[in-house]
Amino acid sequence: MKLSSKNLETRQDTIYDAIVVGGGMGGLSAAIYLARYNLKCLVVEKGKGRSFWMQDLRNYVGFDPDTPGRNIIQHATQQAISWGADVLRGFVEEVTDEGETFAVHIKVGKSDTTGVTFRSKYVIAASGVIDVLPELNNMKNVFDYAGYTLHVCMICDGFDMWDQKAVLLVKTEAQINAAFVLNWFTPYISVLTNGLQVSDAMKQKLAEHGYPLYEQAIAEFLGKNHQLSGVRLADGTIVKATTGLVNMGSIYHNKYLKSIAGLEYDGENLVTNNMCQTSHPRIFALGDLKQGLNQVSIAVADGTLAATQIWRNIRRESAPRKWQENITEASKDSQAKDVELKT
Ligand SMILES: Cc1cc2nc3c(=O)[nH]c(=O)nc-3n(C[C@H](O)[C@H](O)[C@H](O)COP(=O)(O)OP(=O)(O)OC[C@H]3O[C@@H](n4cnc5c(N)ncnc54)[C@H](O)[C@@H]3O)c2cc1C
Repeated sequence: MKLSSKNLETRQDTIYDAIVVGGGMGGLSAAIYLARYNLKCLVVEKGKGRSFWMQDLRNYVGFDPDTPGRNIIQHATQQAISWGADVLRGFVEEVTDEGETFAVHIKVGKSDTTGVTFRSKYVIAASGVIDVLPELNNMKNVFDYAGYTLHVCMICDGFDMWDQKAVLLVKTEAQINAAFVLNWFTPYISVLTNGLQVSDAMKQKLAEHGYPLYEQAIAEFLGKNHQLSGVRLADGTIVKATTGLVNMGSIYHNKYLKSIAGLEYDGENLVTNNMCQTSHPRIFALGDLKQGLNQVSIAVADGTLAATQIWRNIRRESAPRKWQENITEASKDSQAKDVELKT
């Protein structure tokens, strides 16, 4: 069911088997599997995450490479609801561990905000990350190109940059090293640091590869209809480029987990086992938020794994369902004897 501030009370007493934080690629995959295991699940999605921003999914088996992420999200949300999952538009502010259950504190609504708490046996952290973009006075100018011809993922879009003039945008010197991987796709790379001064050693390395370095601040991106043609710098220099890669790091959506003791992180990524279970046995983590490749195929597979492990755990703790009409008096007697022998 689709939940909103108008019908929240219908679920107030529900203890969900799992609450999924984030209704992107991984979270919706988990919800579809959980619902089809007939487990009670709630997906909480704040809106406009990375998969919504993905203008086209280039490399997923069988999908048209122009398929926008928002279409997949919309379709998969309906799919999850149709199998029985609950979906709520809201922002998860905090998760607290109560022992048997988690209390998940959620802010619902934009202007007229309501706070609501739902409880679950398991939590799936599927809240992903968001890419850091250059901060210009006119952010609309950045959004006109970012995600179109100004890419944020080399694995996803390197192919589309093949032998084009490309700008590499960085925030730290270490991020410049992406140039020495991007050169698999194109050697025509100009590095833009947006005001950051870099070391002589890095200047030397870039010069040896023939990659120009521009340390001036960025004034604006140039082009038309999302097609980049260059970048104008604060001193008026124009760097010509038909494509680009933003490699300025990510913001990790993991603040709501900060009160959970003992969660193991690798940097900001959650560490998990091969079934996406974190160091807390009832918290699972998926996709971009956990260690590994930031790809749709990985997030979707992670959702499958986490939901299946949660089902296994719950199933193993549950009494088996029996076909009572077929159980004869004799087998009941022998079962009773078994119980007597065991106790
Ligand atoms: C422009 C762009 C192009 C891309 N192209 C490709 C491509 O071609 N192929 C490919 O495989 N991958 C591509 N990716 C990467 C892909 O989008 C991610 O790897 C994938 O979406 C990860 O899935 P996820 O479920 O881990 O995270 P997401 O899909 O980002 O989902 C996380 C969700 O959690 C929500 N959320 C976050 N915090 C909270 C909170 N506190 N409460 C409630 N909700 C919350 C967010 O709104 C978001 O919807 C691209 C990414 C971008 C940005």
